[in-house]
Amino acid sequence: MVLIAIAVLFTVSPVKAEWFSHEFDVMGTRAKVEFEHNSAPQAKKLIQQVVDEMNRIDHLMSPFKPDSELSKINRLAAKSALVISGEMFSLLEQSLHYSHLTKGAFDITFSSVGYLYDFRNKIKPNKREKEGLVASIDFRSIRLDKVTKTIKFNNLKTKIDLGGIAKGHAVDQCIALLRLQGIKNAFVSAGGDSRVIGKKNDRLWYIGIKHPRDKNKLVVNLPLEEVAISTSGDYERFFIQDGVRYHHIIDPKTGDSARSSQSVTILADTSTDADALSTSIFVLGPVRGMDLVNQLPNISAIIIDKNGKMTFSDDLTNAK
Ligand code: AMP
Ligand code: MG
Repeated sequence: MVLIAIAVLFTVSPVKAEWFSHEFDVMGTRAKVEFEHNSAPQAKKLIQQVVDEMNRIDHLMSPFKPDSELSKINRLAAKSALVISGEMFSLLEQSLHYSHLTKGAFDITFSSVGYLYDFRNKIKPNKREKEGLVASIDFRSIRLDKVTKTIKFNNLKTKIDLGGIAKGHAVDQCIALLRLQGIKNAFVSAGGDSRVIGKKNDRLWYIGIKHPRDKNKLVVNLPLEEVAISTSGDYERFFIQDGVRYHHIIDPKTGDSARSSQSVTILADTSTDADALSTSIFVLGPVRGMDLVNQLPNISAIIIDKNGKMTFSDDLTNAK
């Protein structure tokens, strides 16, 4: 009798799913994970796995940690071919893919000059330093060998930095991890890179795009489903000197900050793609950038140009 009562209890009252959310600092930015789960102890474990995964990628790809794989590459790859991890190899291949696609607007060797900027301490390279190193910004100096899984720089002054793509990769990894654990509804973000799966309480997810000159304002709030969204902005890391804004997105042609946009938002299937493209389109500027976006399948853009004018890619304009 008692057994029957328990069985009935279980069939009529399924365990109720709850939302769990956690914010933390990683990769020099703020990250967030949010998902629906029916067990609080398991949700807590899963949150820890997401935190661990982001920290693992940070330890692999940070240019500021001397023992990261990226720092090792920067120290050694100009001297001789260096065997690297499969994960690093694959992200470098994707970076080079975007360099070709954007005719060099996306170029991880921007760091050959970029390493001389320190936005927090208002430090930038002087004219002579910049002119001496800008020719070393060239993704063609990176040689990847698929067979030996090695990297080699054929320029002694080459330095790389994955800041324009690594956060997107980290978000994709965490979404994959959550999916593998059966999660259907989730949000993961690292700085300006976010991705959503499923729904939020049976409704679409909403993600806002910040006003580039007023951090308390949103310019649009987008309803989203099964998509990645990345924003690159000149307000994220910057300082102003003699009326000029120096910020963290570098035009590989000049070694100086790219100044034809204030913010670029990209929607794509994966965060890695959205991240690399938001940085690239920022460099290309609103005209050339939007032309490229309109040629790419499954990619949408919202660009705010240097005068604050907002434009939408053709697919978004037609959907309005
Ligand atoms: P995001 O906020 O995604 O646009 O990334 C900005 C970061 O990308 C910077 O902090 C740099 O680490 C890196 N970056 C800057 N300029 C470039 C460029 N032209 N190509 C690739 N990565 C870049
Ligand atoms: Mg980016």
